[in-house]
Amino acid sequence: MKIYADNAATTKMSRTAIDAMIPYMEEVYGNPSSLYEVGQRAKEALESAREEIAGIINASPQEIFFTSGGSEADNQALRSAAAFGARKGKKHIISSAFEHHAILHTLNRLEKEGFEVTLLPVHENGIVVPQELEAAIREDTCLVTIMTANNEIGTIQPISEIGEICRRKGVIFHTDAVQAMGHLPIDVKEWKVDMLSASAHKFHGPKGVGFLYAKKGTVLTNLIEGGAQEKGKRAGTENVPGIMSMAAALKEAAEGIDRNIAHQSALRDRLIAGLSEIPHSALNGDAVRRLPGNVNFCFEGIEGESLLLLLDDKGICASSGSACTSGSLDPSHVLLAIGRVHDVAHGSLRLTLGEEISEEEVDYIIKSVKEVVEYLRSFSPVWRDLMAGKSPFIL
Ligand SMILES: *Cc1c(COP(=O)(O)O)cnc(C)c1O
Repeated sequence: MKIYADNAATTKMSRTAIDAMIPYMEEVYGNPSSLYEVGQRAKEALESAREEIAGIINASPQEIFFTSGGSEADNQALRSAAAFGARKGKKHIISSAFEHHAILHTLNRLEKEGFEVTLLPVHENGIVVPQELEAAIREDTCLVTIMTANNEIGTIQPISEIGEICRRKGVIFHTDAVQAMGHLPIDVKEWKVDMLSASAHKFHGPKGVGFLYAKKGTVLTNLIEGGAQEKGKRAGTENVPGIMSMAAALKEAAEGIDRNIAHQSALRDRLIAGLSEIPHSALNGDAVRRLPGNVNFCFEGIEGESLLLLLDDKGICASSGSACTSGSLDPSHVLLAIGRVHDVAHGSLRLTLGEEISEEEVDYIIKSVKEVVEYLRSFSPVWRDLMAGKSPFIL
């Protein structure tokens, strides 16, 4: 069996998304800034994609700015709010401890440039407490940025409550909705967000394209200077095939959203129940307020990397919170943020299911993970010490 269970890392492009690109490479290949017909047709298509996307999140087309993906949208949102705040002498930013690195690394940069950053705790369940956020807001707070759903543990934040607080306090609110877009219903008006980031490759669209929603009246700062594309806020000839494909992928996701949420959450819960049978294991993050396809566990006494390699042998693509594979020995900042100690955080496994996942596949994952964890524990010195009572079990 071959099972791709790493949809939080990226998704397979849908047939609809692939088909939507082709005419804009073969026929309507003009530059949208050109005045002749093939250019103007590209321009019209681009604006229809903007309208389609805006409609899905209850925004106006003028509020959608196309970018090269989620990271760029995050960077531009933070830079824009920071620059706007600084002009008014406001240099305090509130975020959370478990944001994506596109947010955290930009915040590090802003700190070096004289901004002060408060990172709210996300507690054991992986959810920000709105009252704590409200208490952290100061006179000089220029931005609150809290992700809609976490990319590792899938927990969903109380975005509309946070939006309500920020609106009342007059603070700009940005949310990184990259993991949520196409997977949860999104309404920027109801949520009272000022800016929101999204990326096509997380909802079966192509890589290298995304968008920033910026509420009318939000002052944007350019990251890329050049031509007058995107109302002068993001220079560079538009990625027309990518944008057309993104709009088609989002439309498809939005149409199937209720069915997908029901199907995926049922199988997610089956997977959680199955893996919970493994002794000394624990689910990471809230069991209910989480993305429909996200399962993340810690298993005591094993290393996440070995787990991944053995699962790969069984045809299962998954991911681990410990970042050894990406060249660092630090465990995931997300797992540390929910209070997992280093040793436990190292033995983590993230399985992010696709919309087409079947019960049979979930049962195969459960069986395989059980086998692999047992096998790895059979020769783990850490596990031997735990079993001998030399060190206490944590989970
Ligand atoms: C994937 C991801 C990003 C980055 O998006 P790219 O399009 O890959 O740059 C940002 N934030 C979150 C939460 C993500 O999951």
